[in-house]
Amino acid sequence: MKFTCKKCKKDFDEDYKNLFDILKCPNCKNKEVVLNSIKQGVHPPEAGFGISYWEFEDVLEEGKVSYLKEFFEVEFDFHYSRISEEFVLTEKSGNKVDFKEIYKKTQNDGKLQRMIYNIYYVLLQGD
Ligand SMILES: [Zn+2]
Repeated sequence: MKFTCKKCKKDFDEDYKNLFDILKCPNCKNKEVVLNSIKQGVHPPEAGFGISYWEFEDVLEEGKVSYLKEFFEVEFDFHYSRISEEFVLTEKSGNKVDFKEIYKKTQNDGKLQRMIYNIYYVLLQGD
């Protein structure tokens, strides 16, 4: 995942090790780093970063396309595309993906849960 430090503007590539991992800039150690334009340091809701299935569908329909493309490409090797609100998520073979299965996977894995939560968070901020 690509981040930018808000303080010194250094770009770096790192992954969350777990759900509550906080990343620091490797250059100046500042904790205010930005995932593309996703603000980090979002406090988790009480139950963690879980979202409902309906919220997950909202993310697919309305979340920022560049984040979704990268998320599905890197984490699942799936292809995501969207024209207006019609989105398509397919495997490399062209097979359609079962969203309920993907939703379950994202909610059972702390890192995926956090990533999808961040995309959802940006959607809520109206970015
Ligand atoms: Zn920095």
